Parts: sequence; structure tokens; C-alpha cells
Amino acid sequence: MKFGGTSLADMERIRHSARHIKREVDAGHQVAVVVSAMAGTTNQLVKWCEEASPMHDAREYDAVVSTGEQVSAGLLAIILQGMDISARSFSGWQVPIKTSDVHGAARIEDIDASDLNIRLNENQVCVVTGFQGISPNNRVTTLGRGGSDTSAVALAAAVKADRCDIYTDVDGVYTADPRIAPKAQRLERISFEEMLEMASLGAKVLQTRSVELAMAHGVRLAVRSSFADPDGPQSDSKNTNFGVPGTLVCDEDEIVEKQIVSGVTLVKAEAKITIRSVKDKPGVAAAVFGALAKEQIVVDMIVQNISDDGRQTDITFTVPDSEYDKAMAAVSNNEGRFEYESIKGAKGSAKISVIGVGMRSHAGVASSMFNALAEKGINIQLITTSEIKTSVLIEEEYAELAVRALHTYYGLDKKEG
Ligand code: ADP
Ligand code: ASP
Ligand code: MG
Repeated sequence: MKFGGTSLADMERIRHSARHIKREVDAGHQVAVVVSAMAGTTNQLVKWCEEASPMHDAREYDAVVSTGEQVSAGLLAIILQGMDISARSFSGWQVPIKTSDVHGAARIEDIDASDLNIRLNENQVCVVTGFQGISPNNRVTTLGRGGSDTSAVALAAAVKADRCDIYTDVDGVYTADPRIAPKAQRLERISFEEMLEMASLGAKVLQTRSVELAMAHGVRLAVRSSFADPDGPQSDSKNTNFGVPGTLVCDEDEIVEKQIVSGVTLVKAEAKITIRSVKDKPGVAAAVFGALAKEQIVVDMIVQNISDDGRQTDITFTVPDSEYDKAMAAVSNNEGRFEYESIKGAKGSAKISVIGVGMRSHAGVASSMFNALAEKGINIQLITTSEIKTSVLIEEEYAELAVRALHTYYGLDKKEG
């Protein structure tokens, strides 16, 4: 059972979440819990690091930002003990959760669950800090924002859990962020592949890496609400999800009613950079993106035009707004690795994506996306597609409007009444 920040925001919420744990313990289950920091805590810790120095050492950043989870794990253990439940908290290093040494974005490499397994067999609830682990050099690492989801799935795989339930402030995965599209509907089930695309294209309800891990290890993943009545009915409306109210993330062949489009997502704060008139010859793209890779800049969309004369072409790509200055500098001062006529760019775009496994077999999904945007007078700057998604880059100020328009256009809106 994993509880996110809003589910642990204050003592009352922690007590409420603890009642969900008590229900499962009373039902005779062995329970390992993964916690996030209390809502807002990690943001504050990150801010302090930035105030201390914008160029702070990543190892010290991890030493600071990992602390939020230790507070919530301890508090939850205390509250569980007060409910006569045997409980013990664990920091990442105590489990231990071994990770790579990429501070701020570490990957879990191994979890030694032998101690946890002994305790679980003694019916002790093990409350483990999410988001953190320990590097080969014995330093605390963190897994990237939203990383507690990944901790939970990795731990579920390590203890061979029957299920990994992600408790959050929504009661499942929706066809779009319900905060943006009030007519979004909860999905009873979603395939790993679609969830992977949705997460990486902006649906922050699950961290992308957690979905990847669940898919690789066959972890049964459910997204459910911690705000629901802990003693309320424990089955979904259609009672298909093994008694789990919420959304089940599962293999595609476990989904009977397949939709063509399952979801619409958005990512804001994307910057677009265009390099005009680079030579149209082998090695130029390698030089451009090599210069960016050298600075550890992750590039998202890439478009290279066909050249008119076979000699010159333009390359456009996107990076997060936060990487814009660094990316402009990397391609401008490229130490003569490639020549160009001019470089221009701007921050403030948004990427809107439409996702669905049905796209594999249905034509026209992309063209109807462009129609829907045209009807609203929204201009498309860039387009990329993959087998199960189409993404467009548009002006940021139209992002929410575009999500709602596409949601309606694909017939995903909740029926009235
Ligand atoms: P937690 O603190 O529990 O990890 P997060 O804030 O990380 O919670 O994720 C939950 C939030 O994800 C929801 O409040 C919701 O606004 C947002 N969200 C974005 N896209 C979706 C979606 N498609 N379905 C459900 N929630 C979504
Ligand atoms: N507390 C961390 C964050 O805010 C990890 C998480 O919540 O999943 O990013
Ligand atoms: Mg989260």
C-alpha cells in the first residue's frame, strides 16, 4: 500500500490512511507500506536547496530532500502502533533499497527484502520511506519527483506482493486530469502500455518508471483513493477488479471493452528551438544532439525538414523550459562541430497527447485530433506520433482548452445525470 503526500498531509489524514491499513491487516493480509512526504514538504526542501545555492551539490540535495519521507514514515508507524497494530518504519538504507549513484534521479538496482519478509511473516506492518535509496558509496539517493510510486512497485516486486495499491487523492486513473477536464471519467482498467504513455506524457498520477517496473515484473497495480471511507464497500461498480475499487493497471488482454482513445494528457513549459540552415549531410544531427547530450539535456520532440536543394535543412526540437538557456548555449557555442545560419527559440509551449491502443488498428485518430484543434482555432507547432499516441505542440495558453476539446471530440466526456 502506497500513500502519497496529500494522503498524509496532516495528522487527521495520516489517521485516515492508517484506517485503510487496519482494514487490510484485519482481513488477514501481510502489509508493507510505502510513504511519500507530507504534502508540500518536498517542494519546500527543494526550494531551500535552491536558496542555499542554485549550483548545489546533488549529493547534498538528496541528503536534504529525502528527509520528508522519514518524518511521514515515523508518524505513520506511531499512529499504527496507537491502533494496536505492530508497525515499524524503515528508511531506504535500512531495508536496504540499493540504487545507482545518479543523485536526484537514481534507479533502484536491488532490494534485499529478507528482513522485511521475516517481519511481514510476523505480521508486522513495515512502513518504508518512498523516493529514496542508498548508492554504492553509502550515500542517500532520491529517485526523481514522484518517485515513491516507483519505490512501491519495486518493493511489491521484491516481497512478491499479490498487489500494489497506490492510494492518492483521486479514486483512479481518469481519461484526463480531472482537475483540468471536469468531465473526465475514471477508467476501470488501463493497459500497462497506455499507462506508460499517459504517465510519460504528463499524467502525474503515477511516475513513469513505476509503470515500467510493474510491466517488467508483472506487478498488479491499482490506483485508488485514500480519501474514500476505509470501511466502505471494497469492490468497484462492476465488481470486476478483484474487489479493488479504483483503476487496475493490467495487461491489454485483460481488458474487454477496448476504447480507441483512452486518455488525453498535457505537459506545460516546453521550449522550442529551431536551428536554421544546417548542412544536409551525414553527421549533422549527431553533432547537434551530441552537443545537447554532453550537457545532459534531455530532448523531447525532434523534427528535421526535408531540404529543398539537398544542401541545407532546418532542425527543430523541444526541451523543458527549465533547460532552455542551457540548450541554447549548447547549440550556439558548439565549438565548430556544425555550422548554421541562425538559431531561434521560445519558451512557453505545451504538449498535448492523445493515447490509445486502438490507434494501432484505427485510421484517422490523428487527423481528427487536428480537426478538433482547428475548430477551436488552435495552431499546431509540431507533431509527433508513435504506435499508440499522437502528440502536438501548441501555445501554452490554449493547453487546458485543447485537452477539454479533444476529450469531448473523442467522446470521452462523462454522460450527464
Ligand atoms: P500523490 O501525492 O498521491 O502521489 P500526485 O499529485 O502525484 O499524488 O498524483 C495525483 C494527481 O494526479 C491527481 O490529483 C490528479 O490531479 C493528477 N492527474 C493527472 N492526470 C491524471 C489522470 N489521467 N487521472 C488521474 N489523476 C491525474
Ligand atoms: N515526496 C516526493 C515528491 O514530492 C516523492 C513522491 O511524492 O512520490 O516528489
Ligand atoms: Mg505522486
